[in-house]
Amino acid sequence: QVVNYAPFTLLPSAVPGALFEQAYAVQQDFNLLVDAISQNKEFLERTLASTIKVDDFTARLFRIHVQVLEEGLAQSVFLGINRSDYMFDCGVDGTPALKQIEINTIAASFGGLTSRTAAVHGRVLKVLGKSEEASRLLPNNPSEELALGIAKAWELYGSQSAVVMFLVEEAQRNIFDQRCVENELWNRNIRVIRKRFRDVFEKGSLDDAKRLYMDGQEVAVVYYREGYVPKNYDQQNWEARLLLERSRAVKCPDIATQLAGTKKVQQELSQPGTLERLLPGHAEAVARIRATFAGLYSLDLGEEGDKIAATAIADPDRFVLKPQREGGGNNLYGEELRQVLEKIRDSPERTSYILMDKIKPQPAMNYLLRAHSPLRVSECISELGIFGVYVRQGKEMVMNKAAGHLLRTKAIEHADGGVAAGVAVLDTPYLV
Ligand code: ADP
Ligand code: MG
Repeated sequence: QVVNYAPFTLLPSAVPGALFEQAYAVQQDFNLLVDAISQNKEFLERTLASTIKVDDFTARLFRIHVQVLEEGLAQSVFLGINRSDYMFDCGVDGTPALKQIEINTIAASFGGLTSRTAAVHGRVLKVLGKSEEASRLLPNNPSEELALGIAKAWELYGSQSAVVMFLVEEAQRNIFDQRCVENELWNRNIRVIRKRFRDVFEKGSLDDAKRLYMDGQEVAVVYYREGYVPKNYDQQNWEARLLLERSRAVKCPDIATQLAGTKKVQQELSQPGTLERLLPGHAEAVARIRATFAGLYSLDLGEEGDKIAATAIADPDRFVLKPQREGGGNNLYGEELRQVLEKIRDSPERTSYILMDKIKPQPAMNYLLRAHSPLRVSECISELGIFGVYVRQGKEMVMNKAAGHLLRTKAIEHADGGVAAGVAVLDTPYLV
């Protein structure tokens, strides 16, 4: 086994202060929205209807969602940990605007490692004789904030002896990110176990009250750091997922909240009237949320879908074509977008994708430091993520917070891909 340092920029990157504040200010609204969607069976059913006909992965998740609702939810405490990602779109007059790329409602990562990056960049600036600039880097500790959410859910679950279970991948490349959060829980005397779906399949069980047990230990909270891509599942893993979803344990996220994070839902949210219906009586929150939306378009069969498909084929550089996948490296751009869309334009398969306006940030120069990679200056763009944490007990929100930030930077030649995909690196915002 090999341990490498996590990749990072040599220098912090400039981020417009006003947009940074805007991103923080809208996070509680996004928490409310995701939570509202997760409780709205009709909305999920209607929005995902065309998608689940052609996308087997979303369909399987959806079936579990329906099944647990039909059986009656045993879970009464809900914990959401999400990360809303943005880029700074450069308008025609050069003014940057905050535009959401997506919101991640499952396994949103790098809250742990990014709790350390400000210190790294602070040191670099000091070495360069820039102590004044170093002192302006903002404190940022998502590790602790995420752990406080997990701890709250654990407490409300109400069993002192129950544990928190991190559900992790078979081969774990990002373990230290998770350990940062785990350590914060141990510091609060909450026991943490790390298990895979396979362990749950072999050793997990429910008692009569649907309490979840692993190896005889009661589990209060299941924190998924896996389970968001098809390759995470074989038949046994699907059975394990169903067992977890049926249980009384607090799932972070429950399967409805995972579905709330699909690209199809994101696209539907941009339709006129949708936000208002999901968040009645929250006009200001709706306005703050809508201000962050880029153009999003449905490829459902019909006139509207035909029209936007034709527009994208004629001018592919204006758009990004997105399937219902997470984890980076799945989107299509430029010539590839044109070819794929031409192939599927008259087939139902096109409804498994959405189209999005391509966001065009202003590049800046930086060094991307990666183990075993040569050092050279690159033209880079950054993506800002804001973590959100909320806890709901029954109908009552008992915690709703913005929980720190993540800045990831990549060379402009890569259209797609995050840190885990080996494209982006960890960064620290320097507000300007
Ligand atoms: P995933 O779920 O795979 O992370 P994203 O929607 O976050 O999917 O897209 C992956 C990456 O593609 C983003 O991190 C960003 O770099 C790029 N990207 C996505 N949408 C856009 C867009 N509308 N404009 C420009 N780049 C985008
Ligand atoms: Mg993403």
